[in-house]
Amino acid sequence: MQLNTITLTVKLQIRPLGDKEAQNEVWRNLRNINRDVFKAANLLMSHLHFVEAFEHQFMQTDRILEKEMLDRENKKKNKKLNAQQIETIAQEIAEIKQKRKELKIEVAEKVKIFYNGKNESFAYNFIRHEYPQIPSYSVSILVKTVQNKFKEEWKEVKKGEKSISNFKKTIPIPIDDKQIANTDKGKKLCYIKKEGEKFVWELNSLEAKFEIVTGKYKQSKYMGEDKNKRTTLERVMNFEYKVADSSLKIEENKIFLLLVCKIPQQQATSLPNVSIGVDLGIRTPACIACNDGLRVISLGSKQDFLAIRQRFYEHRKRLQKSLAMTKGGKGREKKLKALEKLRKAERNWVRTYNHTLSKKIIHFAIQCRASRIQIELLEGFGRNENKVDEKGNYLLGKWSYYELQNMIKQKAEQYKLVVTTIDPYHTSKTCHVCGELGYRKGADFFCQNERCKEYQKRQNADHNAAFNIAKSTTFVAKKEDCTYFKLEQEKKSKKEEE
Ligand SMILES: [Zn+2]
Repeated sequence: MQLNTITLTVKLQIRPLGDKEAQNEVWRNLRNINRDVFKAANLLMSHLHFVEAFEHQFMQTDRILEKEMLDRENKKKNKKLNAQQIETIAQEIAEIKQKRKELKIEVAEKVKIFYNGKNESFAYNFIRHEYPQIPSYSVSILVKTVQNKFKEEWKEVKKGEKSISNFKKTIPIPIDDKQIANTDKGKKLCYIKKEGEKFVWELNSLEAKFEIVTGKYKQSKYMGEDKNKRTTLERVMNFEYKVADSSLKIEENKIFLLLVCKIPQQQATSLPNVSIGVDLGIRTPACIACNDGLRVISLGSKQDFLAIRQRFYEHRKRLQKSLAMTKGGKGREKKLKALEKLRKAERNWVRTYNHTLSKKIIHFAIQCRASRIQIELLEGFGRNENKVDEKGNYLLGKWSYYELQNMIKQKAEQYKLVVTTIDPYHTSKTCHVCGELGYRKGADFFCQNERCKEYQKRQNADHNAAFNIAKSTTFVAKKEDCTYFKLEQEKKSKKEEE
């Protein structure tokens, strides 16, 4: 059975191994290649532009001549003309015809000289000749990249809607997938190997060896170590994932391997009627439940989450305070940098947190054999009931919620799970067993329906909301469809009437 695949780019930092001198040599070589790739890409781009523009210009000139010719032919039809006048016009037409013929011949000759430039092998040889330092495994991909970019832009350039664009200095060094192997057996140019617990990337053409940084996160204490990168590499090594055309990218003083993997889509043995609901809350970062009304779990802890947030907050306060006392110069610069670094660290931490949450959500969906994941549509209107704390802040921050939603969607695709957004109206005020309105008291929820089996029993408010989200069938795509939004609009128009 043919499985569909999805493409995933994994950004892996790599560090050259060996002594200081060897490392410097690798850096020098890579920087040189990077510079050449940048220049070659731009030169090829200009070249393609020149060839196309030349042809385009010829066509335009020819069109002008054609129009002049048609004008004369129309004139000739005028019955009032005498023989002398007709003769003159006929002569003019003959001249234009001759001009067009000559132009065609001339262009054909010129095109023969450099028309090859459109041809792939010409572009390949051109780069090989001008920039012999660029490894052969990069050139064909580079040619493809430039040609595709040019084709994309030419349509607009031709109409004068835009000018031809440049490649930036940070252009990655491409690597042909045919040259990447998952063992060092065979004759490939790049290898991924495992040496002990370390993953190693070998680049034969530079005789360079790199350590692949798989990254351990400090917050592992709370959410478990991020094993994503290691798992991906393991799967590449045992042929579960296929490697596609990838690249090396230099960013300031770091080297990254942008490894492109083709991942087979999992055939989930899901049941069409089973869905799970995700409640992103204030008491727990996330709560997930199955629409069978039985299975439910809370993810993460508010205390742990807030403790780390608080540490970041205090650190930032300290830095800002000392920054305010520093007048200027080097000291100020240093502190601004430290502040920026802290901001990045916090962003990274939230990102990793979201990655772990989304992974656990998918895992739960698979365990339940669900075919659908349901989340509330959070469009930032009104009060989303239990989603905000007393000060109106989201626990994760509004932006993080969007990030988390996107991560869930991305990971769900791999397992052919559908992600749907539902109307958040009353999800935390309704009893999930009978569907009647109840009331919340702190972390608890109580049903007031005498005929319900949960009547006046203490329920976990977050679990109840997650069950409601799992069971909901009011699917919405945009905030205008949501009940809260409609109610707010009604209120507004009533006020205006008064
Ligand atoms: Zn009830």
